[in-house]
Amino acid sequence: MLEVKNVDMIFGGLAALKDVSLTVPEHQIHGLIGPNGSGKTTLINVITGFYAPTAGEVIFDGKKISGLAPNVISLTGLGRTFQNVNLFPEMTALENVTTGYCARTKHNIASAIFHTKLYRKEEKEAYDNAMRQLEFVGLANDVNTKAKNLPYGKRRLLEIARLLATDPKLVLLDEPVAGMNEQESDEVACLVRKMRDQGGRTILLIEHHMKFVMSLCDQLTVLSSGMKIAEGPPSEIQNNEEVIECYLGKRRAKSA
Ligand code: ADP
Ligand code: MG
Repeated sequence: MLEVKNVDMIFGGLAALKDVSLTVPEHQIHGLIGPNGSGKTTLINVITGFYAPTAGEVIFDGKKISGLAPNVISLTGLGRTFQNVNLFPEMTALENVTTGYCARTKHNIASAIFHTKLYRKEEKEAYDNAMRQLEFVGLANDVNTKAKNLPYGKRRLLEIARLLATDPKLVLLDEPVAGMNEQESDEVACLVRKMRDQGGRTILLIEHHMKFVMSLCDQLTVLSSGMKIAEGPPSEIQNNEEVIECYLGKRRAKSA
């Protein structure tokens, strides 16, 4: 589904990614972990086209996507959430999710003004689709609440619903449970599994919450200072000396 090949990303002399390669097969839940500043978000930004890599390439679903614009890449079936909540605060939950579908519609301004059959059909599809996604993430009772009035955990679920409205084959989540309590993060773990098992999606996620990552992911890739230092199933990564040394050990010490 996704192949990152020997990617370098250099920002004015600083190498944020050095020769990073990564393969995510279809229907996998793949975790990307590592200390702050290790290049995780940069890698997501390269995959989604926000940055063109300095070297290397990204192949998605058999096609090279590195070098394409983010909106073009998103139309190929790749969707993301951001590390910080990124919603329209004055819009309702339903309106926020409907915007996710807009890039897929074919009607133009003239058909919108004249309320043509195509326009009405697509409006109905956008509405039905948004309602389905809100239900899927557990926000069926909040459709008419403004985003700014939802509690933090629900705002993050709303972002996921908006993303799912574009029907992505590959979903990229940047710290989906940051700032959530245990119950909320368990709910997100269930939701991610459901995206894979019922929605048939492939997931690549960044997260520092170790219980969440270790219980949810099939495979993990560990970055440190822009380099891949380990890769494998959670059971292996947990016992990897280098990973404990530069990341897991420090986290355990912090939470102790
Ligand atoms: P992580 O998500 O793992 O915490 P980031 O990918 O955000 O790390 O950052 C990796 C490194 O790249 C950091 O040193 C950061 O300062 C740098 N970086 C990220 N984006 C930019 C940018 N647009 N310009 C310059 N430096 C950047
Ligand atoms: Mg980050």
